[in-house]
Amino acid sequence: ASVPRQSDVPRVPPDTTRAEFNQAIGELQQILGVDNVAINDKPLVDGWYMEHPNTHDAFHIAPQEELVSSAVVYPGSVEEVQSIVRWANKHGIPVYPISMGRNIGYGGTAPRVPGSVVIDLGRRMNRILNIDAENASCLVEPGVSYFALYEEIQRRKLPLWIDTPDVGGGSVLGNAIDRGVGYTPYGDHFANHCGMEIVLPSGELLRTGMGALPGKDGADNPTWQSFQPAYGPYSDGIFSQSNFGIVVRMGMWLMPETNHQSYLITFPRDEDFPDIIEVIRPLAQRRLLGNIPQLRHVVQELAITGRPKSDFYKGSGPIPRDAIRQSAASLAIGDVSWIFYGTQYGDAASISTQLELIRDAFSKIHGAKMRLPKDLPADHCIHNRANICSGVPVLRDLDWLNWVPNAAHLFFSPIVPTRARDARAVHDIVARLHAKYGLDLLPTLCVAGREMHYIVNIVYDRSSVDEKRRSAALMREMIAETAAEGYGEYRTHILFQDMVAGTYNWGNNALMRFNETIKDALDPNGILAPGRNGIWPRRFRGKGWEI
Ligand code: ADP
Repeated sequence: ASVPRQSDVPRVPPDTTRAEFNQAIGELQQILGVDNVAINDKPLVDGWYMEHPNTHDAFHIAPQEELVSSAVVYPGSVEEVQSIVRWANKHGIPVYPISMGRNIGYGGTAPRVPGSVVIDLGRRMNRILNIDAENASCLVEPGVSYFALYEEIQRRKLPLWIDTPDVGGGSVLGNAIDRGVGYTPYGDHFANHCGMEIVLPSGELLRTGMGALPGKDGADNPTWQSFQPAYGPYSDGIFSQSNFGIVVRMGMWLMPETNHQSYLITFPRDEDFPDIIEVIRPLAQRRLLGNIPQLRHVVQELAITGRPKSDFYKGSGPIPRDAIRQSAASLAIGDVSWIFYGTQYGDAASISTQLELIRDAFSKIHGAKMRLPKDLPADHCIHNRANICSGVPVLRDLDWLNWVPNAAHLFFSPIVPTRARDARAVHDIVARLHAKYGLDLLPTLCVAGREMHYIVNIVYDRSSVDEKRRSAALMREMIAETAAEGYGEYRTHILFQDMVAGTYNWGNNALMRFNETIKDALDPNGILAPGRNGIWPRRFRGKGWEI
């Protein structure tokens, strides 16, 4: 994959000379203060998760210089965000909003159009505006991380849980509008948001849901964080995974704390995985499973130890099944094949009944064995899962980044019916193409009652041009082959967004034409995150930007 770029004038916005850019940046410094506008003119440094750069995609899959900003700005208020947007319209400079930029594997802080000005909302707009203990909800700015929200709830000793993704350093707001997921019963983050405040590409301010109805004497509406759709078209959806507005405030529901019990079930045979899916489906549809469980291949158990792949296999190319088997035999989990990670919630008696029903359902699968955290050593990742599944943010899931040197990763995540034949069809495509490109297959399935997110983690050495090329080619071929069978991705890295958006082309691209109509109406100058999620404003469309 490669992005069109201006070879002679790097790191300036498209159609803008260095002189024009400097002049425009001078104006922006007047508005925001010199300290809050940083020009991207130093060598690029990849950093790590907690100290990530906001200059480029630290997990580059294209050459490092291809997905870069020209500058980063740090607004301190909603008014300043509005001023930045008006400035962008005046100069025709694309801006790219991020909350905290920790959606690693999807582009991080990088803009889709090189030379865009990144608006880092999170650095200064990081207030928890409200925690309503009675309503079990909060209202946050973009810079509130899962860690920060968790710590504030602990500080106030409130009996509430947050819901965190696998890694807790990201933005509560940013993850929800990118439709990320977590693992408590409140794990669907977008479904559990309630109310937004948005700066539109014109600079105008919008409140959605009940927030559109002013509260008494200028207060916020008292049900802004209580009822999602309010009256008329439900507009929140178009501000998720899109480039139609900058979300500056968002409400989230919080879960009342409860007892919980995490567990895992191991299965010895690779080939039983479609049957395991058949057992999960009715359990999930009946809502007997307490959360969205994960089904992981045992190779993930090796990776999550944080040890390098070379500890388990000295050869080159993908780790062979035999080497996985031998290494797994030396771990607490043993020589197994698939591992189901679940958590149940409620009072102790109800949890023990639930566990019995679940154990009984899985007993159909040869050799199935349930284990609780107390049955496993202290360094086993079940203890980490138990934290995540009870709303405690952690970083442990970064450990598989030790798998290869200079590791970066990409997710391939198609939505697949929770059904044996579909699971097998996707698995066969994915396994065959991983073998073709010589990369390790690291699958985790998040299984719900009707669909599952079949998530493949491609971990590659970002210092190797060849490994990057193979990883990108693998992504493209998996997207194309699975789409031909009717499976589509729920989210993807910015470099593959055109391609994924292009697979949703029913009715002569009716959906994209609809999105473009909205985009052109809201953003006639095409300044807000052009190309994000494959949506290009008129100014950029059909001019060679799509890849
Ligand atoms: P994280 O939540 O992991 O820190 P980001 O802040 O990078 O991740 O958010 C993920 C993506 O969602 C960004 O790349 C950006 O495209 C979009 N995004 C994030 N925050 C906002 C926002 N407040 N308004 C509009 N789009 C946003």
